[in-house]
Amino acid sequence: MDRRIFLGSAVASAVGATLTACGGGGSSEPALDLAESSRRRPTTTTTTTSAGTTAAKSRVIVIGGGMGGATVAKYLRLWGDAISVTLVERMPTYTSNIMSSLVLTGQRTLGSLSYSYDTLRSKYGITTVFGEVVAIDPVGVKVTLANGTVLTADRIVMAPGISFDAVPGLGTSDKMPHAWQAGPQTTLLANQLNAMRSGGVAVLTIPKTPYRCPPGPYERACLIADWLKVKKPGSKLIVLDANSGIVTEVDNFTNAFMGLHGNVIEYHANAEVTSVDPATMSLMTTAGTIRGDVINMIPRQRAGALVATAGLNNATEGRFAGVNVLSYASTASGAGKVHIIGDASATTQPKAGHIANQEAKVCADAISRILSGGSPDPAPVTNSACFSTITMSQASWLTAVFQYDAATAAMKAVAASSAASTGWDQDNFEDMGEWFKALMGDSFA
Ligand SMILES: Cc1cc2nc3c(=O)[nH]c(=O)nc-3n(C[C@H](O)[C@H](O)[C@H](O)COP(=O)(O)OP(=O)(O)OC[C@H]3O[C@@H](n4cnc5c(N)ncnc54)[C@H](O)[C@@H]3O)c2cc1C
Repeated sequence: MDRRIFLGSAVASAVGATLTACGGGGSSEPALDLAESSRRRPTTTTTTTSAGTTAAKSRVIVIGGGMGGATVAKYLRLWGDAISVTLVERMPTYTSNIMSSLVLTGQRTLGSLSYSYDTLRSKYGITTVFGEVVAIDPVGVKVTLANGTVLTADRIVMAPGISFDAVPGLGTSDKMPHAWQAGPQTTLLANQLNAMRSGGVAVLTIPKTPYRCPPGPYERACLIADWLKVKKPGSKLIVLDANSGIVTEVDNFTNAFMGLHGNVIEYHANAEVTSVDPATMSLMTTAGTIRGDVINMIPRQRAGALVATAGLNNATEGRFAGVNVLSYASTASGAGKVHIIGDASATTQPKAGHIANQEAKVCADAISRILSGGSPDPAPVTNSACFSTITMSQASWLTAVFQYDAATAAMKAVAASSAASTGWDQDNFEDMGEWFKALMGDSFA
């Protein structure tokens, strides 16, 4: 079948909630299905009382308007039309992390990755509040903003993304940007790479898992290596991986690191950064001291700070939020009315924008059902996939399906539905652009 017909036909299979970019493919290519997850449309309560007056709507506050938060807000309105949704976000526009490594090579601008909340407001009736949430009361179901405003609701959905561990020795120096949250750090790293001399040494560090977007650092390494060949001949890229080896899409990245980019990339496994010295541009690591002209220092990660502030960081050694994956309700004592989705939650699924979108739909469906007096779908299915840039014009892919496993109360990868491309090509790179547009449209439009 022609790849574009295949991609466009959107696999409306039993697995439904299929999108595609950071995740694991079957023997087929990644599907571009934006279907409404595996679940049926829930019934919703009427808003009219027997006396003919309008009943109070259920209220949900969503904290964080990124890939998870924007999607859950939209689908709560689509599937639970008796629900009033308030989205609280600190920034007036969202900047996508997905595709942001292409800003480093000058192939994208941050502006092209910027998404407004206008459509969520005008088309779906979501109320947006721009401000910083500083506290939540999980029992009283209250949210406090930095300006003192207190909002109350029947349920809270938290999608605050990630925060970074402090790097010993780095302080407030901007000499070793992570660029792992798209924005000023991305511009900083792009400028530093542009200013590097030919024949220079760039370093990229990969933190211990779990971190945001498992293939992300490896694909960034490939992209930078390809760019260095053209723009900074004779330069080297040292990749310091805190893990014992490449953590995902092993065949493609191994071939790219050792073969295609073997004359640029020097890869070290088990090289965890223990401290840094920005003055000498040095990294002290478990594999020795490494110096670089440009250092992309990606620190270890944990849930967005608010999760710990609220005492909901009860998983992954206190780094992320434990959740029941049937509804994404917190597993912390007394916090069952708070749901946590996206990178902040601890599940067996990858921390990816695609998965955040999928979790958002499962969560929206569950909340709609619960607020209508029902129960969450007992058998959710999600999908994840990833296009990885191997060069500035070629990509590989990886996709996986996850199914609820009652025995472990976790989402389990379905082996028969998981695979990766054999190698990389230009068609995949073009498909990546289509996939991205569809994903962002599903979340923000
Ligand atoms: C370089 C890079 C490439 C990537 N590539 C891919 C890819 O190809 N495919 C893929 O699927 N994923 C990719 N990802 C991962 C993806 O970006 C994340 O997994 C995804 O953004 C997670 O969504 P989220 O909603 O959990 O968090 P985010 O999208 O980060 O959203 C969190 C939001 O919460 C807001 N917020 C946080 N705290 C507060 C507060 N206290 N008050 C108010 N607002 C708050 C933030 O401002 C932010 O808007 C990539 C990531 C990076 C860094």
